[in-house]
Amino acid sequence: MSKNQINPTPESLSDNGLSRRSFLKLSAYLGAGAFIATQPLNAIAAAVVETHVGEITKWHNCWAHCHSSCLLKIVTENGQIKRIETDDQGNDEFGQHQVRACLRGRSLHKRTFSPDRLKYPMKRVGPRGEGKFKRISWDEALNEVHTQMSRIIERYGNDAIFSRVGYGKPNGPYHYVSRFLNLIGGYLPAAGNYSSHQIDTASTYTYGDKGYTMGSAPTEMAHSDLIVYFGNNPANTRMSGGSDTYHYQVSKAKSSARTIIIDPQYTDTACGREDEWLAIRPGTDALLVEALAWVLITENFVDEAFLKRHCYGYDAEPAMPEKGLQALDASLGYKAYILGHGADGIAKTPQYAAPICGIPTEQIYQLARALGQAKAPYIAQGWGPQRHAAGEQTARAIFMLPILLGQLGLPGTNNGGSDFLFHKTDIAKMPEGTNPVKAKVPCFKWSEAVTRGKEMTALTDGIVGAPRLTTDVKCVFMYQGNWLLNQHSDCNATAKMLKDESLLEFIFVMDNHMTASAKFADILLPDITWLENSRVVAFSTHVTKTEHVIDPMYECRHPYDVFADLAERFGVKAAFTEGRSWDDWQAHLYELSRKKHPEFPTFAELSEKGTVRLPFDPNAERYVFKQFRQDPETHPLATESGKIQIYSHKLAKFAQTWTLPEGDVISALPQYTPTWESYADTQTRAVYPLQLIGFKSKGRPHSTFANVPWLKEVIEDALMMNPVDAQKRQLAQGQIVHIYNDRGTIQVPVRITPRIMPGVVALAEGAWYQPNEQGVDVGGCINTITRLRPTALAKANPQGTNLVEVRAV
Ligand code: SF4
Repeated sequence: MSKNQINPTPESLSDNGLSRRSFLKLSAYLGAGAFIATQPLNAIAAAVVETHVGEITKWHNCWAHCHSSCLLKIVTENGQIKRIETDDQGNDEFGQHQVRACLRGRSLHKRTFSPDRLKYPMKRVGPRGEGKFKRISWDEALNEVHTQMSRIIERYGNDAIFSRVGYGKPNGPYHYVSRFLNLIGGYLPAAGNYSSHQIDTASTYTYGDKGYTMGSAPTEMAHSDLIVYFGNNPANTRMSGGSDTYHYQVSKAKSSARTIIIDPQYTDTACGREDEWLAIRPGTDALLVEALAWVLITENFVDEAFLKRHCYGYDAEPAMPEKGLQALDASLGYKAYILGHGADGIAKTPQYAAPICGIPTEQIYQLARALGQAKAPYIAQGWGPQRHAAGEQTARAIFMLPILLGQLGLPGTNNGGSDFLFHKTDIAKMPEGTNPVKAKVPCFKWSEAVTRGKEMTALTDGIVGAPRLTTDVKCVFMYQGNWLLNQHSDCNATAKMLKDESLLEFIFVMDNHMTASAKFADILLPDITWLENSRVVAFSTHVTKTEHVIDPMYECRHPYDVFADLAERFGVKAAFTEGRSWDDWQAHLYELSRKKHPEFPTFAELSEKGTVRLPFDPNAERYVFKQFRQDPETHPLATESGKIQIYSHKLAKFAQTWTLPEGDVISALPQYTPTWESYADTQTRAVYPLQLIGFKSKGRPHSTFANVPWLKEVIEDALMMNPVDAQKRQLAQGQIVHIYNDRGTIQVPVRITPRIMPGVVALAEGAWYQPNEQGVDVGGCINTITRLRPTALAKANPQGTNLVEVRAV
């Protein structure tokens, strides 16, 4: 074994280096709402260095779903991982700043050596879902996968295989999964995802492309005088030295922009850095926007010239001439709707909105006037507000604020989308080939495709790419992910469906750990983890070639080799590999990437150095819609009108032609839509009076890292509840409670805090579902009680819309 190849055992690991004590100290700093990684540096050393006598340090990355690709230095001694450090190179000036890892990246070895690692290929022996498996050989496992999938393809067709990769923990570029499936005849893919399906849909109908979900970069805040965040908490979601929180912090310090946070929770992003926190009832952001719009219109803050030239549907603006679209009848437009001259006849005044939103009338006026008077307002939304029962409407509504003000396409502004660009400098992807199956099922409706796939059509269920599904789904092929159960909704009902072998006939899972989803596999294969893998990663500030730090543990194998072996059984190995090993593909794809990015070093140089900084100019313009703003006729949008689409004829048509469940609304204009289990659902609220929302914990991106004891210890999984609500229920701090509704019961401690508004409770998502003998989820998975009812337009997950009650155990 070379000195760079290390083969530890879990038993031999110690908590040396970043000790538990210093980890706790660091965590306490975070818990107080402090931003991590605010100290800077620069320039990078060799890929492998001997730092102290006997210690070897290698560069690696954290590949977690926040996409920050933070740099890690893995320190080993005598073949054992001693500790994980992070970027400490260079002068750390912004633009050359260190990409320092957060707590999650720094506890990566704890995830790698977790006792629940999958060690061997396994076959289910007990009833599905009980988690009983027997060890089998790789040959037996892959033969069984081949047999089962061939049988299903023969009997039902490739459309009966549903597959998606869980984005939470991809083990490098995973395009080999769909490449393999496409080569064997295809599969039913998902349309959209669990993260941003509603806002992506809203962006498409408003701006013509889902790419505008992500707006101007946070560096633009350096040129702003007012930052308004709707439900956005990067201090939890993207909290490292390379992430947007750091960019936000530095940029805000430059401009001293006034900051207003609109959120039911007083988040760490606020935490002393905000000028104002407006606590809003979940699901009512769209109504707040309407009241703001009423003030902006009636007090002449709207930019009529911008609306006339760049927008369609505010009043009676014409479309771009080549679009052949008549100007809208003004009575159907947004202005008429807000002023009460539209079909509902209701003026959307602050007085009308305040009792529903929970924000006092005067504060709504003040916010509207602040927006109207701002020179460069930066208005952004996180993805929490759109993950509700009418989330598409909420996202479209928030887009309306910069549109009304004419404040987009200018320095310091944003389009109302999210405040981050992923900062990725893409490495070329392995070609996936063409999927012969043309239909796609909305991501959140994959489980319905199991129970009633043959009934699902474009008009009733939002099937994309084909008029209908031709078969029920009979096989789930899941490489890495916890969406099979944990990240889906109504876990109890979903588990019941998964257990029924007359529905799903075969479940394939390849993963790192025995997750809640992995327990339902028929064949369960052990994947290598990030520290056992090699990969090239490019980020806006650096490009890294990681080598595996430890050899694959137990019988874990690289997924590329596993899919190549499966491809061989299907007779398509040559087409799958094109004669390349995984390392060959990396070098090949990197060379393709260098053609697009000449700033990249050669592959040999990168391999030698491990990581190389890329030029990152913090003063570069990073705001969206510059060209469209300057010359919309030459740079039209890909919308129906070529302009910003406020009124959508397509959506008006959907409203007439789609079959919608009772209570679901699709509207041509962005408008507040009261829904089931919202504050407006007084009937359900009479039984379950509290609105439950989920949020992203500092301890895990989704369910990844949820099994790391260090993180569990420092970041508690507790229900946040306002003292007013706790007093009503006579609950004490830290008391164990049951959160429940008709769908199930979760058991967690309660954290009584004024950081959540009365009437609302909050629980971090991503904890692993773990029902006890009474059926109570003692794992604390919020999806045990979220509702499996898709949204009206995108057919997406509304996991923030829930009504519950809480009682002491
Ligand atoms: S989880 Fe933390 S360390 Fe990992 S990429 Fe995200 S911010 Fe960086």
